[in-house]
Amino acid sequence: MSHSEKAAIFNKDEAKVNWHDKALWFVREKRDTSAHKVKGWEELRNLASGIKANVLSNLDNYLIEFEANAQKNGIKVHWASNAEEHNKIVHKILAKHKAKKVVKSKSMLTEECHLNPYLENEGIEVIDTDLGERIVQLAKEPPSHIVLPAIHKTKEEVDELFQEHLGTTPSNGNPEYLTNEARKHLRDKFLKADAAITGVNFAVAETGGFVVCTNEGNADMGSHLAKVHIACMGIEKIIPKEEHLGVFLRLLARSSTGQPITTYSSHFNKPAEGREMHIVIVDNGRTEQLSREEFRSSLSCIRCGACMNTCPIYRRSGGHSYDATIPGPIGSILSPGMDMKKHSSLPFASTLCGSCSNVCPVKINIHEQLYAWRQVIVKEQKQPIIKKSILKITGAVLARPTLYSFMGKSVRFMLKYAPKFMIYSKLNAWGKARDLPEVKNGNFDQWYKNREKNG
Ligand code: SF4
Repeated sequence: MSHSEKAAIFNKDEAKVNWHDKALWFVREKRDTSAHKVKGWEELRNLASGIKANVLSNLDNYLIEFEANAQKNGIKVHWASNAEEHNKIVHKILAKHKAKKVVKSKSMLTEECHLNPYLENEGIEVIDTDLGERIVQLAKEPPSHIVLPAIHKTKEEVDELFQEHLGTTPSNGNPEYLTNEARKHLRDKFLKADAAITGVNFAVAETGGFVVCTNEGNADMGSHLAKVHIACMGIEKIIPKEEHLGVFLRLLARSSTGQPITTYSSHFNKPAEGREMHIVIVDNGRTEQLSREEFRSSLSCIRCGACMNTCPIYRRSGGHSYDATIPGPIGSILSPGMDMKKHSSLPFASTLCGSCSNVCPVKINIHEQLYAWRQVIVKEQKQPIIKKSILKITGAVLARPTLYSFMGKSVRFMLKYAPKFMIYSKLNAWGKARDLPEVKNGNFDQWYKNREKNG
């Protein structure tokens, strides 16, 4: 299904759409308040954008530097060219340690690689420990947002889910009660885990260490209790120096949820005595995106989610309508690079208003890249004949002022007398949620001429 078809499903529940829209706009407003409190916010964004551009131009060197330093610290480094290799590597490490129970803190990369089903197939229990992630895991759904994975679920729905899976008593969606129950349930999983898997927010080439940001402390809890810690990162997560963390950590939390800093910014540098620490560095299509000059900067993304919170399409269509690991504006640039056929509708799921680019902490020109993808897709893919013909005719009309003026007159006349069902019917998707403005008698050209005539 295309994005619009999936969005139509989400849009059936009008109350939920309104609530989803408001909830995300609230987060966007918090981001604005928080960002405006930082003097030199724009300088920080420029700096972050420059650092990332430097990283992408020298990625090979920084990755090798990171590997050497991480190994010096006693971390085992693995390389995976695709999702399958990544999953096999993680499984091999777990199998070596006879690990049967794994706790995982939020990692979009492992979602992208479909690690959970892979490990479950191998008889390993994987528990997502971020509360939102655990909610969607229990619901057998993918996350709908990269920072707020269960934002599409109401607290009443979570209440029902917990009753079914955790045996809680009905609480009418009491968030405090539900959070406490989740905490008890997860604590037990943490204590019994054989291994912990985390994502990586920033990997520092200079030190060979890495930083994981969470609000719940679940990455620390998992990795400190289990004997084996496996951190999975995309090749683009590198930053050159430790001092650059000061730029990114300030931008990340503020852009994400409006917090001045993430509650836990955990630095991992080497394994504790008697423990093992592994890093799996994954490509999975990233070098290909790197080679596309127009879309290269999309790899600068620090996964703050701000472009989703501000996007009028995302807020009203929900994350699942994108059918991609990363939804929203940035996902609509990254996903066609992975599978153009499957995700060809995504770059069109945008008003191109540019709000995403305005809030992006690393200044990715998101809306311009969405527009660029549209051009690539139109060139490389078959378009529906009706769409192609309409665009051809429109192009011909717009190129001829006399014809344009004549068509304008005809359409204005027709709209005045055309039966309503021609516009507001099931056959015309345009009219489903739109009202035509009142039809005026003349066009701008006539109005302008009259104005000149009358002084
Ligand atoms: S593209 Fe920019 S705004 Fe969107 S998630 Fe990435 S860093 Fe945040």
